Amino acid sequence: MANGSVRVRFCPSPTGNPHVGLVRTALFNWAFARHTGGTFVFRIEDTDAARDSEESYEQLLDSLRWLGFTWDEGPEVGGPHAPYRQSQRMETYLEVAERLKEAGHAYSCYCTASELEERRDAARAAGRPSGYDGKCREVTPEQKARYEAEGREPIVRFRMPDETITFTDLVRGELTFTPENVPDYGIVRANGAPLYTLVNPVDDALMEITHVLRGEDLLSSTPRQVALYKALIELGIAKEVPSFGHLPYVMGEGNKKLSKRDPQASLNLYRERGFLPEGLLNYLSLLGWSLSADQDIFTIDEMVAAFDIADVNPNPARFDLKKAEAINADHIRLLDVADFTARCAPWLKAPFAPWAPEDFDEARWEAIAPHAQTRLKVLSEITENVDFLFLPEPVEDEASWAKAMKEGSDDLLRTARGKLEAADWTSAESLKEAVLAAGEAHGLKLGKAQAPVRVAVTGRTVGLPLFESLEILGREKTLARIDAALAKLAA
Ligand code: GLU
Ligand code: ZN
Repeated sequence: MANGSVRVRFCPSPTGNPHVGLVRTALFNWAFARHTGGTFVFRIEDTDAARDSEESYEQLLDSLRWLGFTWDEGPEVGGPHAPYRQSQRMETYLEVAERLKEAGHAYSCYCTASELEERRDAARAAGRPSGYDGKCREVTPEQKARYEAEGREPIVRFRMPDETITFTDLVRGELTFTPENVPDYGIVRANGAPLYTLVNPVDDALMEITHVLRGEDLLSSTPRQVALYKALIELGIAKEVPSFGHLPYVMGEGNKKLSKRDPQASLNLYRERGFLPEGLLNYLSLLGWSLSADQDIFTIDEMVAAFDIADVNPNPARFDLKKAEAINADHIRLLDVADFTARCAPWLKAPFAPWAPEDFDEARWEAIAPHAQTRLKVLSEITENVDFLFLPEPVEDEASWAKAMKEGSDDLLRTARGKLEAADWTSAESLKEAVLAAGEAHGLKLGKAQAPVRVAVTGRTVGLPLFESLEILGREKTLARIDAALAKLAA
C-alpha cells in the first residue's frame, strides 16, 4: 500500500460512556493512519435511535479530543464523504438495499419470529446448522401476495453466495468460513430501519476505507461483509474489499472479557482519576502490541513511528490496572514541572479540594509540587497529598492516628517539638536532624520517630517527604499542630 492511500475509520456507536476497548481500537487505527501518512476517518454509527444519545455523541468527541486524536474527516471537520453521522445518511442505505434487491443479492423475507424459531429448533434437533435456512430466497408472486394479505411485514435479507469465504486477516492470517456457517442475514428491519450489517460496510465502501481494524468481537460479521462488499463492487458502489485486522480481546478480572458495562472499562473513570492521556494511551497500546521487549514506556510519537498492524499479537490481552498506573506514574514524572502543576489544577479546587479557595497558597503549592510529581500514580492523588498545606487543621484520619500514636508518643512529640523549635527552618536537613535527635533521645530509629510527627502535622501516616513538607508548611503551623496533637493525647 503506497503511502498516503491508507484510509482507516473509527466508527463507534454513541451508546453510553466510551470504554477502554474502544479507545484501544481508536488508538490502533489512529497510529496506523499517522504511521502510513494515511487518513483517519471518524464516523458515528448512530442508526439505533433507541440506544443512541446526543450526550454520548458529545462524549465521544470530547473523549477523542482529550486523548489527542485528531481526525481528518468526520463530525465538525467535515470531508468529501460528509455527513459522517449515519443518522443523516439513511436514504443512501435504503437506496443501496433496493439496488441489492434488484440485482438479486437481497430479498424480502416474510418469516415471522416464531416460524424462524420453530425451524431453528427443528434444525438443531436434527443436527443441522441452525442459521436461516433460505426459505424466502424463492418466493412466488402468489406467495408474496398471500403473505402481504396476511399483513406480514418483510425484512430485507442479504443472500450469501453459496461458496466458501476466505480472507487474510492482518492480525490472524488466513481465515476461512464455509457457507453453512454464514447464513443469509437481515440488512433492513421490517420497519424500514437499516441495520449495522448493511450501513457499516456500505459506509466503508463509500468512504473508500482500505483497512478495517476493529475488535475480535466483530470477526463473525466479517465474512458477511466480505460477501456484501463483493456485491457492492458488482454494482459499482465499492472499489475493492478492504483488508481486515481484528484486534485481540481485552480480558479483565478473573480472565473474563472486559465488558463495556464493567466499571473498570469506563474511560471516564481513568480521566477522573487523573490518568494522563499519554499514560493511558501508552498502556492501552500494550494491549496487543509492543514497541520492543525492553521498553514499556514511550511517547505517542514513538508509537506512531514504530506501529505496524502486522505486529499486533492475536492472543487475548490482559488489562492490568496496576501496570496501567505504573506506566502513568512514569509519564507524570516525564512532564516538566510547569506542565505537571498545570495539569493538577482541576484537583486543587472544588469539588475535589476540601479546603476553602482563599486558603490555597500558590507559593506553597509550587514548593511542594516537585516532591509530589515523583510520587503520584494518578493526578487525583494530589489532593490528599497536599491538603495539610491548605486546610486550617490536618484531616482526622483515625486509622493513621491509632497506628502512629503509641505509648510514649507524647514524650517523643514533646522532645521533637523542642528540637524543631530550635532548628533551622530554611533547611529540611536541619528539620530531619531535629527529629532524628528526638528519636535517639527515646531510643527510636528515624522511621519510628517521624511517624507521630507526620500524623500530628499532616493527619496521615503516609505522604510526601516529611521534612520538606514541614519546611513548606512553616515553623509556626508545624509547632501549633504538634501542640494540638499533644493536647489530644493528654485528653
Ligand atoms: N459501530 C460498531 C461498534 O461500535 C463499529 C464496528 C466496526 O468497527 O465495524 O461496534
Ligand atoms: Zn424468510
